[in-house]
Amino acid sequence: MKITLSNGKVIPVEMHKTRIVQKINLQPIKRRLEAIQEAGYNTFLLRTKDVFLDLLTDSGTNAMSDHQLAAMMVADDAYAGSESFYRLADTVREILGFEYTMPVHQGRAAEHLLAKVFVKPGDVVLMNYHFTTTKAHFELAGGKVIEIFTDEAMNTESTHAFRGNLCLKKFRDCIKRYGAKKISFVRMEATTNLIGGQPFSLGNLREVKKLAAAHKIPLVFDGSLISENAYFIKERDPECRNMTVSQIISEMMSLVDILYLSARKSTCVRGGMIATNSRAYFDRLLAWLPLYEGFSTYGGMSIKELEAMNVGLREMTDYDVACASPEFIEYFVSRLMEAGLPAVTPGGGLGCHLDAKRFLPHLPQTQYPAGALAAAVYLTSGVRVMERGTVSTDRDERGNDVPADLELIRLALPRRTYSLSHIEYAVDRLSWLYRHRDLVGGLKFVEEPKVLRFFFGRMKPLNDWGTKLAKAFKADFGARS
Ligand SMILES: *Cc1c(COP(=O)(O)O)cnc(C)c1O
Repeated sequence: MKITLSNGKVIPVEMHKTRIVQKINLQPIKRRLEAIQEAGYNTFLLRTKDVFLDLLTDSGTNAMSDHQLAAMMVADDAYAGSESFYRLADTVREILGFEYTMPVHQGRAAEHLLAKVFVKPGDVVLMNYHFTTTKAHFELAGGKVIEIFTDEAMNTESTHAFRGNLCLKKFRDCIKRYGAKKISFVRMEATTNLIGGQPFSLGNLREVKKLAAAHKIPLVFDGSLISENAYFIKERDPECRNMTVSQIISEMMSLVDILYLSARKSTCVRGGMIATNSRAYFDRLLAWLPLYEGFSTYGGMSIKELEAMNVGLREMTDYDVACASPEFIEYFVSRLMEAGLPAVTPGGGLGCHLDAKRFLPHLPQTQYPAGALAAAVYLTSGVRVMERGTVSTDRDERGNDVPADLELIRLALPRRTYSLSHIEYAVDRLSWLYRHRDLVGGLKFVEEPKVLRFFFGRMKPLNDWGTKLAKAFKADFGARS
């Protein structure tokens, strides 16, 4: 909840108290330099013992509630027919309005099944924006992913409320160009991850549904960050101001043919699911479920997590839960802007993002500015962030690098996990880095996997800039910082 202090300043205030804590370490600069070298300048390959604030992702790292933990203790661990599953199915019916529910082990498992059933070689899949695993699965199935976002999506200095909207004109053009039969489905991603956690509007979703339905194209909804998108609709669309988060979620779901989600985000657990009201779609997906995930009443999930997902689905409709992450991010973005740093605006739903092209204008995209910035942030702060730029984009069929639309680093804020003092620390060290940005150089790959190279790829700094940056840091803060 946002609170206005007597001096006029607005701060986010936690609507929960912390009863379980986990110790973290801030390693000195010498160790941080060794650690990032050992990790091949790839923040994915750091060990958490070397990480102070883990802002890599909000996936599976959110704080769970007391009710979620309690539910795990009453899990009905059966291979088939678990009562836990039937409780989940009841919740999905009540909160989301879908008759058929299928658990899967996480979001990408849902994408795998959707790719198997709906995407044939030569098909096109339309979406407001891709997600890494989404694109990989649909392309492996032989489909072509086409992103039909609006011009505003790529403007990192925007004030637009709904940068995740799908462009209807491009949608119409694609239907004309490819024919509706060639379009597997249109996919709307809530709080669009790779463009900075940006939402779409309810009005946009309604228009997408109208056009899709007129051409019998299924509307698939990636609801991994569904509660945050609902929060933004309530906050940013005056017409929806008086709706509850729960009502907005129901309204969105009434437009959707198939919902899938990673339960690692809005619902704060580890798992995923698919839900629909179409018996025909459900049966086609179900046919593959036991082979790739598991029996229909657990789908590869731990039943304990499935019980916690059930509670998480209910809790995410509570305004105090839905707002937790976006309000901290808004505060984080405003503090970075005050310090003059190139934060992506407006603040999004899963983390705060910095524009590496503006942070490191001296680096060409061929030297991976976002990758370099992610490594430099770790070095100067012990804060682990994620590269979301060209490193996260695989090479094309001819082996050429594909420059990403945006070069971002993401400082994800796991829900209800970090405090305002953590944010103030990060802002301070990031500001120091910004003043010393000339010291940051480029990267080149030394080991490079073909698919999703950002996970396991190893890189090297050009001209050993890491050592120079560590030296400058030590001169200002001392060896123990
Ligand atoms: C995380 C995420 C996925 C993939 O889910 P996993 O649980 O990580 O497999 C898919 N789509 C979006 C929008 C996500 O944020």
